[in-house]
Amino acid sequence: MADDKEFETDLLWEKAKAVYLSTLISQEEKGQVERYFSMITSVKRNGNELTIITANQYASDYLKNNYSERLKKCLELLSPEAIVLSFDYEKAATPIIQPIRLAAAAPQTQVKRSTFKSTIPLNDEYTFSNFVSGASNSFAIAAAKAVVANPGRMGYNPLFIHGGTGLGKTHLMQAIGNELSVKNPEMSICYLTAEEYLNEYINYMKEGNIHKLREIYRSVDVLLIDDVQFFQKGKEIQEEFFNNFNALKDAKKQIVMTSDVAPKNLPASIEVRLISRFEGGMLHEIESPNYETRLAILKKKTENTSVRIPDFALEYIADNIKSHVRAMEGALATVEVFLSANPSLILDKNILNQILDDFIKKEVTYRKTTIEEIQKACAEQYGITVEEILSHERTQTLVTPRQLAMYISRKYTSKGLQEIATVFGKKHATVINGVKTIQQRLSNEPELKSKLEDILASFGYKLSDAMD
Ligand code: ADP
Ligand code: MG
Repeated sequence: MADDKEFETDLLWEKAKAVYLSTLISQEEKGQVERYFSMITSVKRNGNELTIITANQYASDYLKNNYSERLKKCLELLSPEAIVLSFDYEKAATPIIQPIRLAAAAPQTQVKRSTFKSTIPLNDEYTFSNFVSGASNSFAIAAAKAVVANPGRMGYNPLFIHGGTGLGKTHLMQAIGNELSVKNPEMSICYLTAEEYLNEYINYMKEGNIHKLREIYRSVDVLLIDDVQFFQKGKEIQEEFFNNFNALKDAKKQIVMTSDVAPKNLPASIEVRLISRFEGGMLHEIESPNYETRLAILKKKTENTSVRIPDFALEYIADNIKSHVRAMEGALATVEVFLSANPSLILDKNILNQILDDFIKKEVTYRKTTIEEIQKACAEQYGITVEEILSHERTQTLVTPRQLAMYISRKYTSKGLQEIATVFGKKHATVINGVKTIQQRLSNEPELKSKLEDILASFGYKLSDAMD
């Protein structure tokens, strides 16, 4: 009986998670949510109260502050009764980051520092040995390895890796974290996105606990901050980050950052002194891989698959899918699924062409659709003119279609940020901000989502065709 109940609770929770994930468009956001979900250790139900228990307080607070409302909606869709959702964490289990230096700082104690791997779990597939080196990334890899060999060393702090989406920045950054934690399990490694950092700041601020957050960040040995292009917020938080950054650097603690643009192209709302700090260490770009590297990546990704994929299929993918590594992975997975479902089939070029048709078409459209066409489609959809899209007028009736056009240009073409900004006659930051705003609005504005779907349909895209 109890088992049945547990099973039902688990099932309800699994379904709610699946519904929630299906509402997310961006692969990045999906990845982020999944990382937090992976920190849930159990789900308990008592009457109509459902309690989500996580490995530590950090994850619990984060889930509560960021996902509880939407999760509750998903649960209510699936359950006939109203559900009260609460969050808790395992008090005795994985220590959270706070106790580490607080204990070590107590004067008389020689307490061995408790260990924690990372505030947010790293993906253990993201290792150096799984990362293929090529002309597009060899300098970035060398710098990342140098950081592992000697974290905090002069000239390499911070390490700043930039480059287009889906080219391996997160992989490489997490490889540093993974390798360091194997080499030195005592080391406290903190990985989070700039967006999570901002959320944390706001949460601690609300609770009047900013000193606590300061202690947390200053107690880590390695701080990995992903996607710093989103680091746009008020003066205070930048000041706080600036001070934490300096404190870590002075203490020779390693900082690694990634961004989709070089520091000098970061949004103007990020303070100059921060940008000059970001530039003060080692700077490397990851570029798009060439054919040989693409093929080597595909070979690497098939090393551990259960079905054998013939070389000509890998070559075909490497030859046709060039926009980014993530798209290649999607094509590869499709071939894999197809082969395992049809084990007796002998794959040939024709069949391959058919099963990868969608991917190839998308590639072609990615390369073909122009920003101007997107601006035109958005203007038409909203009954305004392209001139109005390009204007600097900031009434909401113009801002939404303008930002939507930026969003589509960014997510559904392989155009770079620089090019988009130029065609819109706006700054980088304005484009980044527009894309971000639409992304946030899409998760709770179904009308906007359906407008987007209509516009995408006119180019032959689906929502799920987004680049990341
Ligand atoms: P980014 O953070 O730059 O957007 P990710 O690190 O998320 O990109 O990489 C996207 C996917 O491509 C990941 O699954 C990653 O493992 C894979 N990938 C990218 N570059 C390489 C590489 N050089 N070798 C192996 N896998 C790679
Ligand atoms: Mg990334």
